[in-house]
Amino acid sequence: MSVGVVYDPIYLRHDTGEHPEKAKRLEAVTGRLKRKGPWQELTQIAPRPATVAELERVHSAGLIRLVRETAERGGGMLDPDTIVSPDSYEAALYAAGGVIKAVEAVAAAEVESAFALVRPPGHHATRERSMGFCLFNNAAVAAAYALNDLDLSRVLILDWDVHHGNGTQDIFEHEPRVCYISLHQSPFYPGSGLATETGCGNLVNIPLPAGCGDAEYLLAMDEIITPAARRFQPELILVSAGFDGHWTDPLASMKLSITGYAEIARRTLRLARELCRGRLAVTLEGGYNLSALAGSVKAVFDVLTSKNQVEDALGPPPELAPPDISPLMAQLKVIHRL
Ligand code: ZN
Repeated sequence: MSVGVVYDPIYLRHDTGEHPEKAKRLEAVTGRLKRKGPWQELTQIAPRPATVAELERVHSAGLIRLVRETAERGGGMLDPDTIVSPDSYEAALYAAGGVIKAVEAVAAAEVESAFALVRPPGHHATRERSMGFCLFNNAAVAAAYALNDLDLSRVLILDWDVHHGNGTQDIFEHEPRVCYISLHQSPFYPGSGLATETGCGNLVNIPLPAGCGDAEYLLAMDEIITPAARRFQPELILVSAGFDGHWTDPLASMKLSITGYAEIARRTLRLARELCRGRLAVTLEGGYNLSALAGSVKAVFDVLTSKNQVEDALGPPPELAPPDISPLMAQLKVIHRL
């Protein structure tokens, strides 16, 4: 079955100026996919703007109004990291609506999986507050859409961005129909995501120490995420896919390679095929080294389109002295009875 991609030039008009989360990120990604494939073989899915009613399922009316009015005023800062430009409100509506369209196409089996190449990213936006480069929580808006409009009963959100998705956790910590699993560097921005934060039994936080690489992430996939996903029995897997855990990333201190991201994606696709007829929707979150970002997104598409070879132009990190995460794995198995 085919693989979908959501993209629209509106996402370039969220103008952040000199900022790590800039339009050039998406230009690097789409440029790579067009130059080296597989752009031509993907099913193009046009985004639409999310409606205010769809946003209000996960955000306060005040947050939505603040983003709109700041954009209408010509722009401004919502926190020291989070910029609104004149076109940001529209871009953010299309980002959330783009992930909705990806979920819709996957749920209707028009495509097996779909990747929404959107910005601004979403996973730090809480119910009440835009923060951390994020205006609206795209993955949360799409998960709420799946529960309300597509009548799905259980949605798994897997967040492999290097930062904890505090916004997604905040929105769903009392919602048993959503299981939120996050792998993130800890301690690190935004400070949440401790192993003991379990919500209503629906949160699985995997706080990894700095320096973890492919082996540690894959161990967590196999020992914690796979059994937790099997127990939850999702009807859809939604991925908050950040690529700022790459060893070249300027903001974080993890040691993942492009090959590692491909392996994480391969295991996620395998889980989706085992548990929910392959229904997998992916949305872009962070990733600030343009070459690592473009190479990693291409590698994920190569996995989704069943290519055997993944190209890793940046290779493994020059030095790898990974921390021992076996005590953390043991602690998580106790907390979650895995
Ligand atoms: Zn991030």
